[in-house]
Amino acid sequence: MEGECAIFDDVIPLILKSVKVCASTIKNSSSKAKRGAFAIIAVIALVASFSFTGARLAYNVNYSGRIIATVSSKQQFNDALALVINMVGDKDVESVVEEPTFNTTVTLNENINNTQEVANAIINNTDAIVEGTTLYVDGNKVACAQSEVLEGVINSRLNAFDVEGVECTSHFAQSVTTEQGYFMASELDNTLKVQTVVSSLSVVTKMRQTTDVMVPYQSVVKTTDEQLIGYKKVAVVGASGVNRVTQDVVMIDGKVQSCTDVDSQVVIAPVNEVVIKGTAKPNASVGQAANNIGFIFPLPAGTWQVSAYYGDGRNHKGLDLRAPSGTSIYAVAEGKVVYSGWKGNYGYCVIIEHSNGMRTVYAHAKQLCCNVGDTVSQGEVIALVGTTGQSTGNHLHFEVIVGGRNVNPAPYINIG
Ligand SMILES: [Zn+2]
Repeated sequence: MEGECAIFDDVIPLILKSVKVCASTIKNSSSKAKRGAFAIIAVIALVASFSFTGARLAYNVNYSGRIIATVSSKQQFNDALALVINMVGDKDVESVVEEPTFNTTVTLNENINNTQEVANAIINNTDAIVEGTTLYVDGNKVACAQSEVLEGVINSRLNAFDVEGVECTSHFAQSVTTEQGYFMASELDNTLKVQTVVSSLSVVTKMRQTTDVMVPYQSVVKTTDEQLIGYKKVAVVGASGVNRVTQDVVMIDGKVQSCTDVDSQVVIAPVNEVVIKGTAKPNASVGQAANNIGFIFPLPAGTWQVSAYYGDGRNHKGLDLRAPSGTSIYAVAEGKVVYSGWKGNYGYCVIIEHSNGMRTVYAHAKQLCCNVGDTVSQGEVIALVGTTGQSTGNHLHFEVIVGGRNVNPAPYINIG
């Protein structure tokens, strides 16, 4: 621009000087013909100068206190105003665009702004017209705000459900699009309105997450016939393991929708618990009892001692076997538990009915280990020796009932 101005600095004074000389000559001339000739020469010189330099008459647009553009005609400003109205899409634009003043100037063609440039200049110099962004959800216009405001609110919503320390990507569940444009400042929604609209949008957040997950140990039972039924010992103490699991997680508004495993690595392998259980039947040889009933002895070998026999002076209905408190009491044969509970003088008591209709009774227990209705197998622990009910010391009161009548239990368990 400065170079072009330099042309005018040289050319315009030259033209003006020429015109002054002509005018002075014409003034001093006494001949009308001479004056006419000089006037023609002056005009030709002026036109020739303009043609030679490319300079022309134009208008500086004085708008809102400053020069905002150079137009070739006042109509060009009106054309630009029509363009602004079209860009903003609001006929109220006319009421906020100020009336410009035009200053005549001489300039080069290339210094004259095109209509779009003039329109942009009008927008940039009119506070009531602003650039903004329209928000569309599923194709419907829902808000319109300053671009920075809308962008900030949208990003804030999209990041709302990010998990700290994890790389997250997110998008809206709805189809959300934006479009930039020009608006009347008074038409823009405020931040609160934009936040309300945007906060109603659902956010789909995806992330890859790695977590350590506890792996519980299994319990493995090993049996041994070197130990009696009821023997139980933990040979190996179990320990939980840890797996490092990587998952792709999809959330909607912070609620997990799906987790897909993409990797799993063992950090610490679990140690399975090993439990040893005895299977040997106590006093199995004794079980070959009278009448081939096949009862086993109701207490572990070596724990007991007969303290009272059947039918002694007090009409004793069973056999008393003294044993330490807590000693296991075994079902002498398979059967169904028909009683397990408190039974007056018997204290805690279990009654088992066997398949042949016989019943066996186990009384004064410290603790019961079966329930009415249970089917128990031979050798299963059904109670623990105690001294509940009418009892003077820890012992098992054992009865055998055949056809509804008590019989001497001794032969059935090979005592006697
Ligand atoms: Zn007794």
